Amino acid sequence: MEKSLLIAGSIAIDSIETPNDKRENILGGSVTHALIPSGKRVPVFPVGIVGSDFSDEGSQIYETFSETTENIQCASGNTFSWGGRYHENWDKRDTLFTELGVFEDYKPEITETARSADVIFLANIHPALQLSVLEQCSPRLVITDSMNLWIDTAKEKLLEVLNKTDIFLVNEDESKQLTEKNGIEEAAADILQLGPETVIIKKGSSGSAVFTNDECTCIPAVSGITVQDPTGAGDTFGGGMAASLVLGEPLIDAVSSGTAWASACVEGFGIEMTIKINSAEIEQRKSEILGAVSSC
Ligand code: AMP
Repeated sequence: MEKSLLIAGSIAIDSIETPNDKRENILGGSVTHALIPSGKRVPVFPVGIVGSDFSDEGSQIYETFSETTENIQCASGNTFSWGGRYHENWDKRDTLFTELGVFEDYKPEITETARSADVIFLANIHPALQLSVLEQCSPRLVITDSMNLWIDTAKEKLLEVLNKTDIFLVNEDESKQLTEKNGIEEAAADILQLGPETVIIKKGSSGSAVFTNDECTCIPAVSGITVQDPTGAGDTFGGGMAASLVLGEPLIDAVSSGTAWASACVEGFGIEMTIKINSAEIEQRKSEILGAVSSC
């Protein structure tokens, strides 16, 4: 059978304000952003929950990019919703609201077929839910993402997830917050002691750094991009990278692919540009990135 990817995380209705523009009630969430760059290339089983208010348009997008939507529960109540406002420098944002809605009582239940997915991407969601997904599956590779909220409020559970993780994606500030270290090299060294064999530290417009016990590789961001909305760039990066790993690409190629997809994400609001971009453009951006990869 063709190799497949399971992605667990949030399915959301987002309201976003940038210095130049705003959108209300658009489709977002960590699973959604990760699904587009992966569902275009490999069979994907998204895992999550929506409320009875979820739009037909949202359902249609999930039908289009998923192998099956049978691991998405629908409960009576509101879909998770999130609001964010960006500052002038783009790298800083305020969370305006987080309404859990149907997430409050969510218990992931995964079908037999999805349980045998080769790669799992635990996108941003409460670490207790990430653990519950992991306990139902037996993947070859586990990729995990998280956020500052869970480092603050659920660190013990997050450490349990990390112990079962192969590749951890984390942004610069969160890596320092998690390890209480001042530099990313020291933070990465600490995280490598917690379970993952690879730590990828995301640095926004400065690209990312891939740490293993033996080496550190710097991956630049795509140059010349006009940012419209950075929401979901990290999830898009993770989904693009995970699909490349399902396809058997070497790690640095996979990270470059994730970077190329993330560059498309930030060029539009929500998932609009990730949906629109074609594979030739992604390949061109990926080779530009690969040509500029260096040792840290
Ligand atoms: P990112 O820009 O990569 O941090 O991802 C933003 C996406 O994460 C948005 O589409 C939000 O709906 C979603 N999100 C925000 N807060 C949370 C949370 N606490 N748990 C899960 N997903 C969230």
